[in-house]
Order: sequence, then C-alpha cells, then structure tokens
Amino acid sequence: MIRPILKFGAAELQRESEPVETFDGKLRDLARDMLETMYAAPGIGLAAPQVGVNLRLLVVDISAGEEKGNQIILVNPEILEAEGEQKGEEGCLSIPGFTAMVDRPKRIRIAGRDTRGNRIELEAEDLLARALCHEVDHLDGILYLDRISFFKRDLIKRKIRKLIRSGDW
Ligand SMILES: [Zn+2]
Repeated sequence: MIRPILKFGAAELQRESEPVETFDGKLRDLARDMLETMYAAPGIGLAAPQVGVNLRLLVVDISAGEEKGNQIILVNPEILEAEGEQKGEEGCLSIPGFTAMVDRPKRIRIAGRDTRGNRIELEAEDLLARALCHEVDHLDGILYLDRISFFKRDLIKRKIRKLIRSGDW
C-alpha cells in the first residue's frame, strides 16, 4: 500500500524516532509499504517518519528499483564508522522540487536489524553511503536542509513558504 509522504513543515519530520522493539507482521507490512511508496515516488530512500510513523526504520535502493539486489531495509540503524568526505547534490521526497549540495562521509559502516530482528552489518560508499546517512538523519529529526548553509536553507524555506501560501505544497 502506497502511503502519503509527509512534506517539510510536518512536525513528524522534526522529531526523534523511537527504537523498534517488536519485530512482527505489522513492522514487515510497514517496511513493504515504505518500499512501495519509495518506488512509486520514485526515490532511492525513505524513512518511517516520512510516512508519519515514529519508528527507527529506513529503506534504501539506490537503483530506485531498476536492478534487483539493491534493496536495503534497516531497523534501528546505527552508523559505526564514517570516513572521508563527498560533496554531492541531494534531494528528499519530503522536500520535492528542491536539491542542494550536501557534504557526507565517503564511506560508512552501518549496523542494524532486519524486520525479523536478525543483526545486519554492511559497508557502503559513495551514493549508497549518502542515501543511508540521509535516512538515518530522518530518524533523528534532521533534514538535509539542516546540513547546508544558512543562506541556501533560507532561500529554499522562503520558496516553500510561498508554495504553502499558494496551496501548492
Ligand atoms: Zn529525505
């Protein structure tokens, strides 16, 4: 089931999400819905707070569903190590129509659980590292706008306020 994606301005996007404690069918339904929602958008990552669920769960597929084997579902993710840096253009399904250059680590090691509670650990670099860092940020109530210059952030926020006023957001 495709769920509505909350947009910038929604309070749910700016709060810290709670760790998942119950690995049940409801969690697996949520993960499946999030993948479906992400592919439909289309996007390469989605975090539970973006669909209004206050849980530490993210999905990422940097092929946006174009290639098999790229799907990642991570529950209670934790970045264990980060090294290097990369600059790149980043967008967010909750901030449609905008992008900005965001600094991220070049490589990360990340751990978490699958939807059955099994531990997962993986290494990621380049775009995958960027996508995972972006989604983990969502679980802490952080948007990429919080990681760019004041001037760029202010510019985007003013444009969004204008869209809100005209009913186009
Ligand atoms: Zn996002």
